[in-house]
Amino acid sequence: MSHREQTPASAYAERLDRVRTAMRERDIDTMLLSVGSDLPYLTGYEAMPLERLTMLVVPLDDEPTLVIPRLEAPRVRHLHGVFAMAPWDETEDPVALVADLVGRRPERVAVGDTMWARFVVDLLGHWGSDRTTYLRSVEVMNALRTRKDAAEIAALAAAGAAVDRIAAELQAGRIPLVGRTEAEVSADLGARIIAEGHDVVNFAIVAAGANAASPHHHPGDRVIAEDEIVLCDFGGTMAGYCSDITRCVFTGSSVPAEIAEAYDVLFAAQAAGVAAGVVGVACQDVDRAARRVITEAGWGEHFVHRTGHGIGMEAHEDPYMVEGNTQPIEVGHAFSVEPGIYVQGKWGMRLEDIVVATAQGPMPVNTVDHHLIPLS
Ligand code: ZN
Ligand code: ZN
Ligand code: ZN
Repeated sequence: MSHREQTPASAYAERLDRVRTAMRERDIDTMLLSVGSDLPYLTGYEAMPLERLTMLVVPLDDEPTLVIPRLEAPRVRHLHGVFAMAPWDETEDPVALVADLVGRRPERVAVGDTMWARFVVDLLGHWGSDRTTYLRSVEVMNALRTRKDAAEIAALAAAGAAVDRIAAELQAGRIPLVGRTEAEVSADLGARIIAEGHDVVNFAIVAAGANAASPHHHPGDRVIAEDEIVLCDFGGTMAGYCSDITRCVFTGSSVPAEIAEAYDVLFAAQAAGVAAGVVGVACQDVDRAARRVITEAGWGEHFVHRTGHGIGMEAHEDPYMVEGNTQPIEVGHAFSVEPGIYVQGKWGMRLEDIVVATAQGPMPVNTVDHHLIPLS
């Protein structure tokens, strides 16, 4: 699949080495991965999310094997060398095949976080739970997945540059707003997300006027009028990695004083959050830095969500920029900084960039204008 095109084979070998180290540290003898993004992270192959079992068997000391429906095997032939293949036929029991490959009953087995319960239950039937301990793959994968390598940062940057180009069109007034419904503008943004090189649209929130006070507003048949704030939060997946950006525009020539003042606060809060994203600092300090600016300006009760989320192969993943997360930021962590101010019944605003933590400091992936642009 497309992940493979950007990621060199050597990167997969390196990831597998790090997986084995993490397994050894945790006394895990076997890891089993199925649907979800751990599998493409390690192999470049994404399992079809259908009823037939696809499962990568990762033993601690041997080459991994991909158990795969024979009819889907042609999808992965070009990936030979990263893992061995064990195709199964329609009349075979794939869980028995997995158990055979594992060999003796595992003592500590990590199963993919998003593996379907039907397969976990069947595995439990094979091995029982007296002498086998079941763990979640996140224990092995989290430290790897959160520290993005060079290929992953390049992929995030490419996806981010693509949505920046769309935001620039929005700010230039080249995406018509007034007179169209939120849903029409959302569809327009979605088409542009694909046209700019993404494989999938993940979301395209368009919220006008009072609707923008709902942070995850579902774009509907509300027609966008003149002299209102329009919040656009959109992103997709490009070559396996996600983009996510929020910009607001104003459909008029002069922004009302209350909105302009609040936006200045939001702008300063978002910049403070980005600047706080320094290696070694706790994730919660990014939230605190952004929140402090908004609270001190008197808008604290209107900032109703955490400041950010990790991003990578998933649109939302670890680490979360939220009060209570004392995990230190590490080189390669990629996350959003997206404070908002929401006044029910009136208006809402949010400003979001993706940031990568580097040894030289926080590196924003999104650089398109951060101001509230009046469009006429
Ligand atoms: Zn969100
Ligand atoms: Zn967003
Ligand atoms: Zn976000």
